[in-house]
Formats: sequence, structure tokens, C-alpha cells
Amino acid sequence: MAMATGSACCERTARPEQSGPVAQLVEQRPYKPCVAGSSPVWPTHHLELPLWTSVADMSEELATCPVTGLRGPRHSAEPVAPFSFSGPVTVGAIVAALEARYPLSLTEPWDSVGLTVGSPDAHVQWVHFVVDVTEETVAEAVALGAEMIVAHHPLLFRPVSSVAASTSRGRIITELITRGIALYVAHTNADNARPGVSDALAEQLGFAAAIPIVPVPTGQLVTGTGRIGDLAEPMTFADFIAHVSRALNTHVRAAGDPAALIRRVAVCGGAGDSLLQQVAATDADVYVTADLRHHVVLDHLAEGGCPVIDAGHWASESAWLKPASQALVADFAGEITATVSPHVTDPWLRS
Ligand SMILES: [Zn+2]
Repeated sequence: MAMATGSACCERTARPEQSGPVAQLVEQRPYKPCVAGSSPVWPTHHLELPLWTSVADMSEELATCPVTGLRGPRHSAEPVAPFSFSGPVTVGAIVAALEARYPLSLTEPWDSVGLTVGSPDAHVQWVHFVVDVTEETVAEAVALGAEMIVAHHPLLFRPVSSVAASTSRGRIITELITRGIALYVAHTNADNARPGVSDALAEQLGFAAAIPIVPVPTGQLVTGTGRIGDLAEPMTFADFIAHVSRALNTHVRAAGDPAALIRRVAVCGGAGDSLLQQVAATDADVYVTADLRHHVVLDHLAEGGCPVIDAGHWASESAWLKPASQALVADFAGEITATVSPHVTDPWLRS
């Protein structure tokens, strides 16, 4: 598809007919370049970062994959030069912009991130952001006429020997290639970056995340997995449960004393029970994450650990899509359109 011209940010070529949430996306164009391209994405408090003080200690830390259980050393992040757009807008240019914000050096050793499908030379006008690459979210991208998907979760995490269209993953890859849609994954590099996934979760919950739960050495900046920050006003755990449910627009599971006073909040978008020990070593009053397991939470509470909230995997990570899409539009000075998938890929039914 032809690339955008300099003045074409509000001119769209004809798109296929849509209905439902995708049609609303096209209609509302919430992140169209002429709006988001000129405004700062993150409040300045996100830039006021403390200095890293203990690089040597943390460089030996091991990271554990929540899916496979594989362990490996964390990387020390290399400084990455800020992205500077000089056109044309290609898949390769989008990748460069994303990796300036979410450096590959922050990727956990077990992870699979980066360009998964597509040619770096292909032109891009429209980028669709999703948590999960599913047949539904790919159909959204097709309906929008997007030439690229940016996903949080890897589509290809474990080795595959076939991408035949007889499986769901095969159909997805076949559809992406057939439709000329590139796929880029920013997973643990987006988790560990700053601002990253847990910053967006904290922002959605209404507080500024100050420090990571598990720091990663990055020279002068403190970044890493999870975030800890303070609410402006303390509230009871019972009230905080309702607040999280409202802020994330989802049902939550919670464990702990409803009367406990909550001020300091630890968050980790996605599966975060591997961090419970690190959270317990902090003075956090509550931990908001997802995919918490029965015995792990029982043990945590039995040891006097803070109250916990399981907000669901999708809900705890989808907050990142909006700021990430806005940042990308700003990087390209309004030459691209970016949209966020309205499709909830949380597989659990709620009653
Ligand atoms: Zn996740």
C-alpha cells in the first residue's frame, strides 16, 4: 500500500466496510496523527528517574520464564539513541522506533520478541496495537487496512515445524502474509522499559510508578520488572479492590484483610506471581498483578505477605496499548495512524 504523503494525515483511502468495535475505531480514530502527533505522551514525572546505584549486585540476577520455567541471566541494557524520523515510513522504520523505546537489550533471555512476519522495506500507514495475536485481532487489522500489527505477546513462542493453515497459528501467519501485514512483538522488552507495561498499569490505577520491583541495570536509569508507587490518598483494601476493578473495567480476585490500609502499591502487568517474594521484601501494602496461583498466594499470606489482587492477564497489560500507540504516532510526527484493539482476549468467562 502506498505510503502517506506529508499532508495526508486526515485523508484515508477507502477501507473495507466494518461493524461493531472496529467500525468505532475507524469512526473515532482516537489516535489519528493530527491529534496525538503534537502532544506529549507521558507526564513529566515519568522522566524524573532516580539514579541506578547497584549495577554490580543486580547483574547476576536470574530471570525465570513464567511459561517454560527456563532461567537465564538478565541482560544489562545498552543505551539506545532516541529515534529520529527521516522517512519513508516502513516496517523497518517502525521497528527502529519501537526498539528505541523498548530496547532489545531489556528482553528476558527466554523471550521471543522482534519482527515476526513481514518485510522491513514494506511501507506502513496504519499500525494496529494488540495484546494477543488471534484470528479476531488479525481480522481487525484487515478490516482497518492496517499494514502492521504491534503485539505484546509473542505469536511464536515455542518452536514450530509447520505454519500450515490447518492450525490457528498457521491460519494467522498465512493470513498475515497473504494480506501483507507485518507483525512485531514487544514483550519483556516493553515490560522492562521505562515507560513500559507496568508504568501504564500504574497510570491507569492513578498513581505514578517510582521504582521497579526487580531492577535491571541500565546505566543511569532505574528500570526493570514491575513498579512500586504511592497512591495520593490511602484507602482500605476493600475500597482499593473496587478502585482497581473500576479503573481496569474488569472483575478482579483479591486476597487479604479488607480493612488493611493501602498506600504503597506494587504492580506487575501480566503473570506476576514469580515476583511475590521480591514484593514481600518491600514495604508495598498491596500487589496488583495477574495469573496468581492458589498455593503461591496461600504461602504468601501465611508468611504475612501483603494483600494481593489478580486483575487478569489481559486487563493488566492492555493499558499499555494506548500510550505505546500514541508514542509511536508522535515518533513519526503524525505520518502514521495507530489504533488499539478493542477485542478482549481474556479467555475466562465472568459470571
Ligand atoms: Zn503477558
